[in-house]
Amino acid sequence: MTPASPAIMTPDTAAGERPDRHVPSGCERNCAMGDTITLLSQPWAFLIVREIFFGARRFSDFVRTLEIPRATLSTSLTKLVEDGLIETESHAEGSSWKTYALSESGRELFPIYLGFMRFGDDWLAQGVPPLALFHHDCRSWFSPRIVWAETGERVDPRHMAVRLEANYWRAKSRQEPRRRRIVKAQGHMGVRACSMERLLSIVGDRWTFLILREMFHGNHTFQDFLENLQIASNILAQRLQFLTEAGMVARPAGGGAGYAVTAMGLEIYGPMILMKTWGDRWLMPGARPTMHFLDKADGTPRTPEVVCSACGQPPLPARTGYREGEAGTFEG
Ligand SMILES: [Zn+2]
Repeated sequence: MTPASPAIMTPDTAAGERPDRHVPSGCERNCAMGDTITLLSQPWAFLIVREIFFGARRFSDFVRTLEIPRATLSTSLTKLVEDGLIETESHAEGSSWKTYALSESGRELFPIYLGFMRFGDDWLAQGVPPLALFHHDCRSWFSPRIVWAETGERVDPRHMAVRLEANYWRAKSRQEPRRRRIVKAQGHMGVRACSMERLLSIVGDRWTFLILREMFHGNHTFQDFLENLQIASNILAQRLQFLTEAGMVARPAGGGAGYAVTAMGLEIYGPMILMKTWGDRWLMPGARPTMHFLDKADGTPRTPEVVCSACGQPPLPARTGYREGEAGTFEG
């Protein structure tokens, strides 16, 4: 159990009403962050793509490292191919033997993965991070940092504002969202030492992310979440309990109404902001982003990126090495 951490991101009442706070009736947010969350929160999607970053190519590689049932793996791989995140290559005429590789959009998920890994290492690893990262470009062990490309400063949602385009609100889609959890059984962690499974077992499903997104937009009460997300109240109550027990949200000090984000919860916004940027590029082809991140102090645009803590450059998947346990000599 994570020790209770104090609420630190409380709604900003001094700034007046935020334009992005209340969802108009019959609408939903037309934001690439939500669409990316939906895409990546399909069961096993996160973990399969991660295994390809770690070098998995064949069906049997995934079975071995994820201990995933073959039928489930087959369905998940088909969906990832349909979504354009992975590509297959056949190796012989008439043979079913094939290998899997990431598409360009799949490879560009790398910063999001590094961001989630950093979160898991900081908040869930209890001691030495289970996986050390090596940047071949600068020959250094590193930890990923999520910063603004324009300034090099750490991304902090408390210092951000947003600008909305006219098409930011869209008519609510009729399709009922999936409610399955990302990792089916809590406690089943696969065989790889990595903080990500622990993170996924806490975050659970897309609702958890969407509640945190509502908090980013200045909402903090049960009623706000209920109206903006059109979520069933029992599911909402359960997810809020989940987030509170995990230490990501808390009741504000002094017994105020609603919920506030804790120091731990604040750090999950880095990867979520990266998801929005990825979604703008890959899920809204040809369209302009519907929402822009700005510096709250001076209103200038901000773009997130992940950089190596040693050299300050973005690490590419092919230029990043891994080793389980403590950083040491890299022989790869
Ligand atoms: Zn580096």
